[in-house]
Amino acid sequence: MRRALDAAAAAAAAGEVPVGAVLLWRGEVIAEAANAPRALCDPTAHAEMRVIREAAARLGRERLEEADLWVTLEPCAMCAGAIAHARIGRLYYGASDPKGGAIEHGPRLFSQPTVHHRPEVYGGIGEAEAAALLRAFFRDRR
Ligand SMILES: [Zn+2]
Repeated sequence: MRRALDAAAAAAAAGEVPVGAVLLWRGEVIAEAANAPRALCDPTAHAEMRVIREAAARLGRERLEEADLWVTLEPCAMCAGAIAHARIGRLYYGASDPKGGAIEHGPRLFSQPTVHHRPEVYGGIGEAEAAALLRAFFRDRR
């Protein structure tokens, strides 16, 4: 989570909403990214999507059952969907997101009977620092 938080801080410095993600495959870091929809002109360039894409490409496989995905914010519906499609084994996240989150809020994707894969989920890891980064970012933009 330390590396994901550092990626989130770098995103803030680049003017992006500060969210960072790190993906481990069999215990080894193979992808690390910050949220970058502005820089990449890509509304799907959330940190989670970026590490899933990079890891799948590096490994040459579409399913990442043995992956641990660490992200500083509760994933949105798009990212939760990608996590299910990628068959991510374990999801660890920092701050809760009552507005845009889709794990413990909103659609609660992994609780839906139609979801075809549910990772193990661990929330609240590094939550205080992740939330502080987001608060500072949005405060400075007002
Ligand atoms: Zn997302």
